[in-house]
Amino acid sequence: MTTVVSSTDAIVDEVLADPTAVLVDGRRRATLSRRALVAPVDGLPWTEIAVGGPREAGEAAEVAARALPAWSATPAAERAAALRAVAGDLDTASTAEGWARLVSRETGKRLAEARGELALSAVYFRVMADLLEEQQELVLQAVPGAVHHVEPRPLGVAAVLTPWNFPVSIPARKIAPALAAGCPVLFKPSEVAPLSSMVLATLLDRHLPAGTINTVLGEPADVVDPWLAHGEVQVVSFTGSTRVGRLVAAAAAPRFLRTVLELGGCAPFIVLPDADVEHAVQTLLVAKYRNNGQSCIAANQVFVAREVAGDFVDAFVTATERLVVGDPLDAATDVGPLAPAGDPARLAALVDDAVAAGARVAGTRASVPDNGHWFAPAVLVDVPAAAAASRDEVFGPVAALSTYDDLDDAVAQHRATGYGLAGYVCGTDVEAAREVSRRLRAGIVGINTGTPNYPGAPFGGLGLSGTGYEGGPQGLEAFQTWRTTAVVGGAAS
Ligand code: NAD
Repeated sequence: MTTVVSSTDAIVDEVLADPTAVLVDGRRRATLSRRALVAPVDGLPWTEIAVGGPREAGEAAEVAARALPAWSATPAAERAAALRAVAGDLDTASTAEGWARLVSRETGKRLAEARGELALSAVYFRVMADLLEEQQELVLQAVPGAVHHVEPRPLGVAAVLTPWNFPVSIPARKIAPALAAGCPVLFKPSEVAPLSSMVLATLLDRHLPAGTINTVLGEPADVVDPWLAHGEVQVVSFTGSTRVGRLVAAAAAPRFLRTVLELGGCAPFIVLPDADVEHAVQTLLVAKYRNNGQSCIAANQVFVAREVAGDFVDAFVTATERLVVGDPLDAATDVGPLAPAGDPARLAALVDDAVAAGARVAGTRASVPDNGHWFAPAVLVDVPAAAAASRDEVFGPVAALSTYDDLDDAVAQHRATGYGLAGYVCGTDVEAAREVSRRLRAGIVGINTGTPNYPGAPFGGLGLSGTGYEGGPQGLEAFQTWRTTAVVGGAAS
């Protein structure tokens, strides 16, 4: 097992020199099929990447299946050491230039956020290494003459399918527990930001036996279908839209694969009458505009108590007007361009729909460059419950605000969406705010904070936001099965 990596910048150079999204059995593959990658900052194609098809996907599945016996039998301490080595390189990368700039370039997120994503990815690898080493086999001696051993076992080969918006940290939070559990990985990154993910795949390959992680990007049907049909694949972990999540769940159903589905969100952000308005505004700025508003846990429906609505709306509109929209590599930038080319038009339609339903657009919207995928942050005030911006995932820098008189109505309006991922409550009486949070359908809640996520704690959605957990012991167990072995005879009985 190789444990030395000269530098992640060297890996970035290698990935950029001859971009391929096929890395199987430790070997980069050039294929005839290529995809153009477009930079969100100017809308221009800037490179091409070789992608795979059914042949490469099938080969990857065979290689991963062959890797299963050895990787699952690798001692936990050795697997943990490999994960910690990956974490160390991610830490170094978070303060270096190459990888973070590539993440910014592909996704449009600010360089500081790209660095934060690499640092967070390191935490996932380290936390999973720790959790693996803490995990204990249970030995039950309750039945006379028998000993019951209860031990975690790797489920099998894991298929990992990820979105574009966190092209390193979302793969990390799936791949780290899969590898910790002893599962070889089949990884399909997003076609929108594949190069940042390929750097991770290449880095992992340096620290793992060949064939333990195999990466293929291609048409979903070409890649995912053969993977989910392969007999050694036992778990599929998907993050992405609710629409595609349904397709993945259906594809996993015939073989009863374990599914982890981390899907879209429509997070309520509730400002209680006793909230510290200034702090609540700062909290919403983070919860709404982080990652250019393109985070699954972004605040979506903002419900403000009438007692503080005037002050809150004025202050939030002013703060939004001050946001600097620009090049994500520029340190002064608050909001960058959006990676998917169609998102500015999609968001403009969402704003028009809300205005037609009776909302008003507050403040002056910043001017944006002519070329590229830009959308200036917009605040919608008095958004009716029927408007799409209030009942479905916005996924962009548009804030939908409404005023409530009765908290029950706000809670009911959120539950009616069917989503259940994140929620936020702002109030100075923290116990009262926690009581409100318990009424929300949400897997994670921030009380007076816009950043509730922590890799050591489970994170997962309910309802239309999916099923299963990432992070924490539950995130590790997502790739494990518990085996009970009853032993009769021998010294112990
Ligand atoms: P997407 O659903 O369009 O794509 C996600 C992945 O699915 C990509 O790799 C894509 O190639 C693949 N895919 C597309 N069709 C497929 C099919 N038929 N079968 C299998 N895979 C298929 O999502 P996106 O635009 O990349 O990401 C944005 C969405 O992801 C948002 O809805 C966001 O809320 C969600 N998301 C959720 C979480 C979470 O933890 N819950 C985190 C990040 C993003």
